Formats: sequence, structure tokens, C-alpha cells
Amino acid sequence: MTTISANLQAVRARIEAAARSCGRSPEEIGLLAVSKTWPLSCVQAAADAGQKAFGENYVQEGVDKIRNVERSGLEWHFIGPLQSNKARLVAESFDWVHSVDRLKIADRLSQQRPAASKPLQICLQVNISGEDTKSGVAANEVISLAREVALLPRITLRGLMTIPAPAPDFAQQRRPFRQLRELFEQLKQEGLALDTLSMGMSNDIEAAIAEGATLVRVGTAIFGERT
Ligand SMILES: *Cc1c(COP(=O)(O)O)cnc(C)c1O
Repeated sequence: MTTISANLQAVRARIEAAARSCGRSPEEIGLLAVSKTWPLSCVQAAADAGQKAFGENYVQEGVDKIRNVERSGLEWHFIGPLQSNKARLVAESFDWVHSVDRLKIADRLSQQRPAASKPLQICLQVNISGEDTKSGVAANEVISLAREVALLPRITLRGLMTIPAPAPDFAQQRRPFRQLRELFEQLKQEGLALDTLSMGMSNDIEAAIAEGATLVRVGTAIFGERT
């Protein structure tokens, strides 16, 4: 067994244990393998171990992998900061975008999604910790942005994503995830048909799952430390 397939097995076991410990079904929780900075051979090793969904942060790096990967049936998620001049490449190549934080980007993605492709699946990135340095829409602006984004053609709004500030313990890790889940519930009460809470990374998937994550994004625990 390769290191990547052993790591994937260990991550899947963590997801299962975390789900069971809070009474959730592990099948409700998807795993996104974040392959940024890792070569195509690592993506292929993970795909050989049964991994289907991959996350990339850098447009050109992600597009190169999508074009060259010799595996079929993979699903590609763009999760990095997105400038509007790169929106076309992303709209043409990826299946999902998790990092939409303003209407202008959503509008570009919608306009530039090829008619022959399925609608692009979208999450709004929320700056839940309110850090100046982080991208993401402010929590108090999510509802109005979601209403506008949901009306655009060629994209489907699926849910919310966040990257919280690092926290020292489990209880503090849970807090921003709980806030994101509450926003998510609020949007659903507003009538938006959302099903995706993209939260939790290598160090905090247990806290995210305890607060309702439906998709965790894991890089380091699968591929190793990035340099
Ligand atoms: C890099 C990255 C991840 C993965 O982080 P790890 O700590 O390596 O698991 C998840 N989400 C986003 C948005 C990232 O940029």
C-alpha cells in the first residue's frame, strides 16, 4: 500500500469515528482531497485508492492537472482565492467553486460557464472569524449575497465554506463551525435549497463534523506537509 492510500484510509477512519461519536452517518460526509502543490502523480495515487473529489487553490496548477490526469470520473473543486480575470478558466474547467465571496465573481462564473457543461456548483466563502486578512464575505452580508447568487443561471448555489482562524482546542475549534452552521440553517429557512457545509481541514475535521460539516477538505493528512 502506498503512503497516500494508507493516509486516505486513516482520514476516512477519522471521519467515520467523528461521525459516529456525534450520532451522524459517515455517508453524509464527503472527503475532498486537497492536492495543491502536489504533482499529478499524487492525484493519480489517491484516485487509484478510490478518491474521487480533489481540491485545488491555484487556477493554472489546477487546470494543468485537470487536463492531464489519466483517470476518468474525478470531480474538481476550486477552493482558492479567485480573481475575476481567472474566472473563465475556472468556469470552463472545474465542477465546483468554494471560494465565491462577491457577486461580481459569481456573475462572471455564471456567464462564463459553458452551455454544454452542467451548472457550476458554488459555495459562498464566509469570513466567520472576521479577520481582516482573510477572504470571504462578512457573516452579516451572507444572506443578501446568497439571494442574489441563487438567481444566476449556469451556477447552482449549494452551501457555505469557511477557513476559520486556528484555535487551540476542540471547544474553540467548534465555535466558528457552529456559527457557519447557524448561518446555513438560516439560509435554508429563507427558502434556499442548500445541502453543503464545506468546513474542516486536517487539524480540525472532528470539530467540523461535530458541527455538521458535509464536506471536509483535507490536504496535509493525505499528501503530507507542504513545503
Ligand atoms: C490548503 C487548504 C486546505 C487543506 O488544508 P490542510 O491543513 O493541508 O488539510 C483546505 N481548504 C483550503 C481552502 C485550503 O487552502
